Amino acid sequence: MTTDSIEAADRLAANRLAGIRAAMGRTASLTGRTADDITLIAVSKTQAADAIRPLIAAGQRVFGENRVQEAESKWPALRDEHDGLQLHLVGQLQSNKAADAVALFDVIHSLDRPSLLTALARAMDAADRRVPCFVQVNIGAEPQKGGCPIADVPALIRSAREAGIPLLGLMCVPPADIEPAPFFALLAKMAREEGLEGLSMGMSGDYETAIMLGATHIRVGTALFGERPAARPTPGSGRGMIRNSRAK
Ligand SMILES: *Cc1c(COP(=O)(O)O)cnc(C)c1O
Repeated sequence: MTTDSIEAADRLAANRLAGIRAAMGRTASLTGRTADDITLIAVSKTQAADAIRPLIAAGQRVFGENRVQEAESKWPALRDEHDGLQLHLVGQLQSNKAADAVALFDVIHSLDRPSLLTALARAMDAADRRVPCFVQVNIGAEPQKGGCPIADVPALIRSAREAGIPLLGLMCVPPADIEPAPFFALLAKMAREEGLEGLSMGMSGDYETAIMLGATHIRVGTALFGERPAARPTPGSGRGMIRNSRAK
């Protein structure tokens, strides 16, 4: 990249980040909180390192990826360049990648089944590293989606506690193209009932609604990076594009 294009990319990233932080602050204040009470996870899946650096330059430190291998190919180098970066896994995790995920990520948002719980507990013991997790809930009971069935969530939480996996809270991706608020409210109710404080919910098109309903972590891709490169479609991308019309 030329110096000019780096400067333009830096300005665009700084503007987008400032816009989202301002919206977070306005919405958080309605619930007696501030933008700093909410963790903004910049979801950088499919984005090249050159697209990520401007956001780091603008001060963003928390990032999310949805594939272990892709994260392994991008983040060790970026972490060498910058101290204090935090990496969250927001996508489905195969049990055979549990050890790699424990080594690379600071938070895992997709603990959703007993077999993965066992693999993660084993990997954390082996690495002597506790990675805090969210239990992902299949809040819309969609067969094609990851997430623990609602009825199985209490047992999964109990097993995680018994296995010594630190739990931050619950995570969901509500069904596309319908009003997400009832799903966010249901997730918040489930978390309260389980004594969990964290709520990972809200993406580019609906993060303000999620904050109104108590989100502690929002996962924002398109509104920070622009549309994802089309070459590598990901499960979340269609939804992001449809719901993004409002978010800039
Ligand atoms: C891609 C993705 C996001 C970000 O989606 P945008 O609509 O681009 O903000 C958030 N959460 C998960 C689980 C994702 O896969």
